[in-house]
Amino acid sequence: MRAILLVGTGGVEALEEAEVEYPKLEPNSVIIKVKGCGVCYRDTLVRRGFMRARTPVVPGHEVAGEVAEVGEGVVDLRKGDLVASLIYVHDPHNPECKGEENTCRGNRWIGEDLDGCYAEYVKLPRWSLTKVGDPGKSPPEAYAFAACVVGTAVRALKTIARTKEGESVLVTGASGGVGIHALQVAKSMGLRVLAVTRSEEKAKVIESFGAEVIVYKDKFSEEVRRRTDGRGVDVALDAVGGPTLEQSLRSVARGGRVVLIGNVDPLPQPLMLGLIILRELRLYGCLNSTPRELEEAVELLKSGRVRPVYRAIPLEEEKVREAHLLLERGASLGRTVIVP
Ligand SMILES: [Zn+2]
Repeated sequence: MRAILLVGTGGVEALEEAEVEYPKLEPNSVIIKVKGCGVCYRDTLVRRGFMRARTPVVPGHEVAGEVAEVGEGVVDLRKGDLVASLIYVHDPHNPECKGEENTCRGNRWIGEDLDGCYAEYVKLPRWSLTKVGDPGKSPPEAYAFAACVVGTAVRALKTIARTKEGESVLVTGASGGVGIHALQVAKSMGLRVLAVTRSEEKAKVIESFGAEVIVYKDKFSEEVRRRTDGRGVDVALDAVGGPTLEQSLRSVARGGRVVLIGNVDPLPQPLMLGLIILRELRLYGCLNSTPRELEEAVELLKSGRVRPVYRAIPLEEEKVREAHLLLERGASLGRTVIVP
């Protein structure tokens, strides 16, 4: 079958088109015909060697597809079923993992420890998959980023920040793959959404999802405060990380919560500790989503309360390399999804 392989670490030339072996079916696993494979910032970090991966490996952890074959022991999926995957493989028998599967010790990461979805087919265990069934208002390939994008926003807002209806939330990187969907998840929960972007052009798209947009050059916290009667927002979802974290901390109210859901800069960042202490801020990390949050994400996409924003590209070396470069420049609007 055709695939894009990550053959080492470095520039985009480390991504090579190749003919690889069709996966071998095993008990409790499923072979999926890939309908969509999201290209994630994490993929670029892996490629550049900032995250551990075995090479050569088929990258890509954002999987949606049709069941092509079911292994022994899989009783509730059939050929042709549309499924969406978590981005990792956990141990379903470890009681420590229950409900916290995303941070469980021993997790293996799809597209890093295991072959991923930059390919025509991928093999995954049943417990990493959620059955989508009828895709409803979103196209099948959009379920590729149900776990890593929509599910992460669900986890950040509900499980971690425990937002309540009527609260206000700031989303950074609002036109990016994570941001544009996170702000829709926030809207679906009845939150007031302020979104920041550097791009005047993209502001219109963000606005069309019901967010109040702030276009900024270097700083946005003063404008956030101005729009919240000087108080600041209750929660900031920071999808950018290093470059925006200080401004996010300055944008939340006393006792406010800042949840880090992405980071474009893998190097250490200076942090104003006084800012956190004096205003009793809470800074949280959020690592992707659990099976429960993935199910919620799938429902949001099915019902159309979250409308997927993405562009499809073919499974071709040149296109995939381009998508990586676009992500690194922060120039993409929404997600890029490989549709083989
Ligand atoms: Zn991802």
